[in-house]
Amino acid sequence: MEYRYLGKSGVQVSELSFGSWITFGNQIGDDISERLMQIAYDRGVNFFDNAEIYANGQSEIVMGKILKKLNWDRTSYLISSKVYFGDGRKKPNQTGLSRKHIVEACHAALTRLQVDYLDLFFCHRPDKKVPMHETVRTMNHLIQQGKILYWGTSEWSALEVMEAHMIAEKYGLIGPVMEQPQYNMFHREKIEVEYSKLYSTVGLGTTIWSPLASGLLTTKYFDKVPDDARLTREELDWLKDRSLTPDRINMAKELNVIAQEIDYSLPQLALRWCLDNPNVSTVILGASKTSQLEENLDTLDKEPLTQDVIERIESVLNNKPIPPAW
Ligand code: NDP
Repeated sequence: MEYRYLGKSGVQVSELSFGSWITFGNQIGDDISERLMQIAYDRGVNFFDNAEIYANGQSEIVMGKILKKLNWDRTSYLISSKVYFGDGRKKPNQTGLSRKHIVEACHAALTRLQVDYLDLFFCHRPDKKVPMHETVRTMNHLIQQGKILYWGTSEWSALEVMEAHMIAEKYGLIGPVMEQPQYNMFHREKIEVEYSKLYSTVGLGTTIWSPLASGLLTTKYFDKVPDDARLTREELDWLKDRSLTPDRINMAKELNVIAQEIDYSLPQLALRWCLDNPNVSTVILGASKTSQLEENLDTLDKEPLTQDVIERIESVLNNKPIPPAW
């Protein structure tokens, strides 16, 4: 496992990290969640991702119990939470990025995760109704209180990230260090184009999500939708309709041919492709089975991709964004 600096910050994240969306407190039992965390940690993963909305807070409760039981050295790992969507309650101030909800969400996450501080705290989406100044100042306040160490954003526009930085700069506050966008072979624009200026200017770090496009970049959907797979879940019908298209399945099949030729599995090829982008600080893995996690972590033992293979991947994807003019 290698460790990358999170943008221009001083903190280092393992290049592969592990998240709990859909799985913890929901799709899988707590015993499997514990085995997954132990495998990840033993293989060098130092960042575990979570959010208030995951299983309506239950994902953080499960992760907190596991952390308590495994009793790892607190200095050896990073834990995150995200604020915006709430924990299922929807009254005014129970969601969003107001000072009230951010502070209450932070306190609730600390309680559920049973930790004294969050290493990373993300604004899970932008909140267009709350003044940016209120959000930036609140995050700065939580840092000064020692309740969070670094704050960041998720799926914000480059303009919104820049606005947060300008406010932070103007008032001597700490700005967002990292962004958590979707990035995979089918979804490239934000990382490869929109944020491209931010890597050198504000030193943005990135913790990217759904590197396997929710499992589409594996062979499991080639013939039929398996009964135990994520995309059979009723609450994810929206995702299934959007992502499980014949075009994408065909592309995945073509990519699988390339993978097999170079002794990779398809998920390993998809993960290596994300890791090869130097603006990616960490690729957050998701897994519902220990065998999946082991296979994904084994990516790091594979030979690097050659230029020829990279070009063949591009010709299958045929979606390389036009690089920005600067
Ligand atoms: P992936 O795209 O990698 O999907 C993970 C899923 O794919 C697994 O749960 C499993 O699903 C399947 N899978 C994984 N490995 C394999 C394998 N080797 N073979 C076959 N199937 C495999 O990542 P996620 O979508 O889970 O995202 C990762 C993390 O990113 C989340 O846990 C969360 O922490 C974060 N995230 C953040 C978001 C944000 O808005 N900030 C949004 C979404 C995620 P199955 O059960 O179907 O087998």
